[in-house]
Amino acid sequence: MTTETCNITEQINKSAENLVKMRPAYEEIIPFYRELYLAQEDSKKNLDLSPVIIADDVLKMRKENELPLISPEQFPFDHKHASILLKRLCTIAKKRAPALKKSANTILEAELDTEQLFNDFIKNNIASIRETVKKLAIPEEHLILLAASAIAPAVETGAQQLAHYLEKESSAKDNTTAWDKGFCPICGSLPQIGYIKENGERHMICGFCLHHFKTGRTGCALCRNREKDQQQYFYSDDEKEYRVDLCNHCKRYIKIVDLRELERPFYPQLELVATIHLDMKAIEHGYSNLLEQ
Ligand SMILES: [Zn+2]
Ligand SMILES: [Zn+2]
Repeated sequence: MTTETCNITEQINKSAENLVKMRPAYEEIIPFYRELYLAQEDSKKNLDLSPVIIADDVLKMRKENELPLISPEQFPFDHKHASILLKRLCTIAKKRAPALKKSANTILEAELDTEQLFNDFIKNNIASIRETVKKLAIPEEHLILLAASAIAPAVETGAQQLAHYLEKESSAKDNTTAWDKGFCPICGSLPQIGYIKENGERHMICGFCLHHFKTGRTGCALCRNREKDQQQYFYSDDEKEYRVDLCNHCKRYIKIVDLRELERPFYPQLELVATIHLDMKAIEHGYSNLLEQ
């Protein structure tokens, strides 16, 4: 694997290039997401974020109670750059995503209170988001995709800044105990995809802040049920790099990328997009990926 030597832009470009060649069914949506992720990376360079400071006593309390460091609404975001990015993403959608074209146009032309909109997303204020959706008369998922993608660089940067609180804790102990929970140690959200490293360790990527965290090799990565007869998975010989873990206890599933079988740069967000067929299969079998705890 050449992942380490690639910078992030190359990683996105090479991952997209490979995936389009391998999965013609995704040849329309991958170029759109490729540009979206490149725009997000570009936006990170300009962000002006105040760091989140966690007081020692709060940190100690959260650690003792095995709670995440913060809740999602505590992430700072840079309103100005999120607004610029939202416009840029709408422009990309108009050009590259026929299904989103109309909605992207409506968002660009509407005089939106973007500060309120981004606040609603950070605070998960569903009622207010639905009001905006109604006012714009566009599908809810289109607004969610574009607005959430516009604040994602701030959230991801915030999580990277906060990660030192985790490292400080683990290095203070002799034998690091992995965070063996089904939710993100930084923000408490559920993972959206996982991967298996060369050494067989299973890692998860948070669905909100994109923090990577290690979880146990066996059992459900989401509810942490460890009963063998409750755990199943499926995979296909044609796509050896993917596996879908299914849990009969919580009836949820998670897609796993086996890096030992991956012969292209790993950009998790694109793997997520290029495996919608696996979501469909898991959902058909009665499993859900709903990001609920
Ligand atoms: Zn998180
Ligand atoms: Zn489970």
